[in-house]
Amino acid sequence: MFTYIKNLFKLTRGDLTLAPRVAVYYVTMQCNLNCAYCEDFGSRRNHQVTQNPSLEDAKKILRVIRSGFSRIWITGGEPLMHPQILELLAYARHELKFREISLITNGTLLSSKARKNLTTEHTESTEKDLLKNSVDSVISVVENLDRLIISLDSIDPHALSLVSLPQLHAENVINNAREAAKLQKTHGFKLSLNAVITPETLHSMDDLLNFCIENNIWLSLSPQSVNNLPRYELVTSEEYRAFIERIIALKKRGAPILGSFPYLKMLIDQTPYECYPTLAPRIMPDGWLAYPCRPMEKAGGEQGGLAVNLLDVKTWDEAWRVAQEKYGSAPTLCVSCFQQCYAEPSLMQARPIEYVREKLRGVDLSGYAPG
Ligand code: SF4
Ligand code: SF4
Repeated sequence: MFTYIKNLFKLTRGDLTLAPRVAVYYVTMQCNLNCAYCEDFGSRRNHQVTQNPSLEDAKKILRVIRSGFSRIWITGGEPLMHPQILELLAYARHELKFREISLITNGTLLSSKARKNLTTEHTESTEKDLLKNSVDSVISVVENLDRLIISLDSIDPHALSLVSLPQLHAENVINNAREAAKLQKTHGFKLSLNAVITPETLHSMDDLLNFCIENNIWLSLSPQSVNNLPRYELVTSEEYRAFIERIIALKKRGAPILGSFPYLKMLIDQTPYECYPTLAPRIMPDGWLAYPCRPMEKAGGEQGGLAVNLLDVKTWDEAWRVAQEKYGSAPTLCVSCFQQCYAEPSLMQARPIEYVREKLRGVDLSGYAPG
């Protein structure tokens, strides 16, 4: 909260290089899926991307992050593909004592390792055993988490197979989400689903929302983007607009929907917003800080890039200073992209009244998935 208020004062002074509020660590770029809309990773790119950091390097990167943050999001690629992910989560929780740890996963590996062990060690296992092992495996992931976010675009296996999840995985992931939902109270974490809306999944979004309502899961939504902008056929479709209008109406009635009203409205009319990319800095698997934001780092040029490696500094403050010396202040009035993970935190930072309203509605304001 202190940083939020400090940033409000910065904005009144016209200083847009806001203090970061949460760090996002891409612990691996490897992924076991090939989502049609993925512009960054995916198994088709596994051979081109940075390899996983060693356990020691990953721990050092986490230590430097901890010197500047109490909150961290761990993502990928698929973070559960990092061979020591459970050890890293335990390290972040027990040694580094992060106050809040969130993990974004595609959900496929929440139970598959347990299933694999079962098939090799207990060939006579029953369905009940399989389910128990699935639950045990979910527990081993969530025990050091405050928030688990599963990327699930639909609960219609056919629609999923067109964009993200092969049918082989669909039932497994839907089941994992259901089981994880039941563990929220006993294991002290929050679960949300993050869905990318595409023309192929649009017809099934109402069923996904009903699934979330029935299972006590929050839902966050973003339109598919192509080259960092929303997919044209989607945002120009009447069906899409009608769905978002419905979502707004349901949120007003208390449905578990993440994303503020300004954000949801923006999904319809695409109003430009003032972006504050430094609110949630991205750190790559090998420790490089993407400054001021991942889209600018990927674009290259003078405004941004891989500014500093956290393995070469002692503290986060040192890294942040080096990054600003290299690339300067954050850009003003940038409308170069439309990434939900930058949009919602920026909108909330600039609208304190709406921020308070969301809090009063009981919305998990830190739950909006930075991808
Ligand atoms: S699961 Fe995530 S990282 Fe992997 S291909 Fe899909 S969108 Fe990309
Ligand atoms: S709009 Fe996109 S490119 Fe521009 S600062 Fe924000 S995240 Fe970066």
